[in-house]
Amino acid sequence: MKTILEVKNLCKSFGETQVLNNINLKVNEGEFVAIMGQSGSGKSTMLYNISGMDRPTFGNVFLSGEDISKVDEDQLSSIRLNRMGFIFQHSYLLKNLSIRDNIVLPGFKSGKYSREEINKNAEAIMKKIGIISVANHDIKKVSGGQLQRAAICRALINQPDILFGDELTGSLNSSATKEVMDNINNINREGTTVIIVTHDAKVAARASRVIFIVDGSINDELVLGKYNGNEDHSFRDRKLTQWL
Ligand code: ADP
Ligand code: MG
Repeated sequence: MKTILEVKNLCKSFGETQVLNNINLKVNEGEFVAIMGQSGSGKSTMLYNISGMDRPTFGNVFLSGEDISKVDEDQLSSIRLNRMGFIFQHSYLLKNLSIRDNIVLPGFKSGKYSREEINKNAEAIMKKIGIISVANHDIKKVSGGQLQRAAICRALINQPDILFGDELTGSLNSSATKEVMDNINNINREGTTVIIVTHDAKVAARASRVIFIVDGSINDELVLGKYNGNEDHSFRDRKLTQWL
């Protein structure tokens, strides 16, 4: 199996405070990794530092062998835009644009695809994620689950290698969480590597591997294997709950 992301001796401090302490991690292409841990344990900081949104104080982050902790700002922005997708707890869609216009925007910014390809990709992704019916809607007129699914579409518009999510279901009720996570599992099944932070065991149970962070260090990990749908969900939930 091919390593897509390798983190070596990652440390992160803010001033005098060390938040991440010697994180080492290898993620294979096609994996779905969930990062769990108590509030304040350093999950978001870890995600930001392994995804090029922030720079480690010490250590290295390799994306397909390239040390992205050492590249310049322009290269890093281009790597983030072309090869990574991000989803947060809130969708951060632009309020004055339609759902469709929000989704195509990073496509035009990247220059990776032609206008026709971007529009075609957007239609295909919106169909797949189930929001084509609200494509022309103003973002104030759609539900929280639809907003988050639009954020997934926007994250996928440049066909990234890795999709990152920080508490991406944190503002959703359980039925919207299920819809969003079914989509994430489908995207992963089609080959995109997924790395998310969550404190929800039901969400983490959909990952192929769960990593547990305590005080800025990896404390333990649980290999669950690929999630195949609903049939084995309760077994995975139980396994994870027992481990937690
Ligand atoms: P989690 O996502 O697990 O809740 P965070 O990664 O957000 O935790 O934060 C871990 C610790 O790092 C917290 O104590 C937080 O206050 C601190 N921290 C995070 N970001 C910053 C920052 N930009 N400046 C200073 N301290 C920060
Ligand atoms: Mg956090």
